[in-house]
Amino acid sequence: MYYFDCAASAPILPCAMEAFIAAPQGNPDSLHSAGREARAALEQARADIAACINADPSEIIFTSGATEANNIALTILMHNCIDVRVSPFEHQSMACTYDEPNGLRYMYGVSQMLANNETGRVYTLPEREDDMLLLCDATSAVGHIPIDVKALNVDYLTAGGHKFGAPKGIGFLYIRDGAPTFSIMKGGSQENGIRPGTPPVNLACAMAAALKYKTEKLNDGISLKLTVERRDYLIRRLMELGGVINAKWDDGEKWCLPNILSVRFPGVKAQRLLVLLDAMGFCCSAGSACHSGDDEPSAVLLAHKLTPKEAKQTIRISFTEETPIEDMVALADAIQAAIEKMKAL
Ligand code: PMP
Repeated sequence: MYYFDCAASAPILPCAMEAFIAAPQGNPDSLHSAGREARAALEQARADIAACINADPSEIIFTSGATEANNIALTILMHNCIDVRVSPFEHQSMACTYDEPNGLRYMYGVSQMLANNETGRVYTLPEREDDMLLLCDATSAVGHIPIDVKALNVDYLTAGGHKFGAPKGIGFLYIRDGAPTFSIMKGGSQENGIRPGTPPVNLACAMAAALKYKTEKLNDGISLKLTVERRDYLIRRLMELGGVINAKWDDGEKWCLPNILSVRFPGVKAQRLLVLLDAMGFCCSAGSACHSGDDEPSAVLLAHKLTPKEAKQTIRISFTEETPIEDMVALADAIQAAIEKMKAL
């Protein structure tokens, strides 16, 4: 099988699996030695994640994933602000959480993702102002491009571990020191009461190991170079086949994640192409796995100004720096064969 749906879930990194297994078994809230061991491991994981995004450990809350982090963060905005603007590109976990704000403070909130999970496009975040709370869903970006919460100047930032090599079921929410908080769950004082429940020590350790690994490679410039090489090879091959790249690295002042390629082939229905590719052993997707069963064109692609027809011709190819280059060649060949087959019918 050739796996090109890493933006849906990336393969678990060996270092993450090892950290999961090695993590202590106690409950980090127990006072005995096993509990203290687990607490130490959990706090080390928190510190490691904080270091990767230039945050303070006290600013990191573990969650079950990005959906939960987005739900909590947007609820904080709606609870505190008189007006909340959600960008049209947001993931459903943000868009569907939105409700009328019942603002306690004379502030407004903005929710703007950092990079798009369907197109790979990277956005310029709005400048944070004194009377504003800025929430950034960085789920697609964390582990793939360098993240510095201070440079981004955000109040809240969210991420999900399985997008960068941790197991599913873990994510985190960054809350800037001093920014308002609110709990949507009740039941305990864990994670500052913002996310009560026994903290997932093994998963947190696995996520920290994965993010440390990805960040070190990013800082060395290694992974970016390798991923860009793979992406550029594919762009060249797919453009030769008449493919239109929906968002390009050099699109004006905007730029794109190196690991997500959104491409359409005029006259070719994405669903049919994906079925053919799947039969040949290639896993690609039409966009977000969260609404893969929908018949409607992706709202996100429409918000990126694609027509409904273009949206339904779009496939998403996502990979990592570790995807073998021969697999990129095999994928381009398979797409070529599938398109020729469809055109011959
Ligand atoms: N935000 C974005 C941008 C995503 O791509 C996803 C997952 N598709 C989520 C949030 C939700 O992530 P999780 O699966 O960790 O809940």
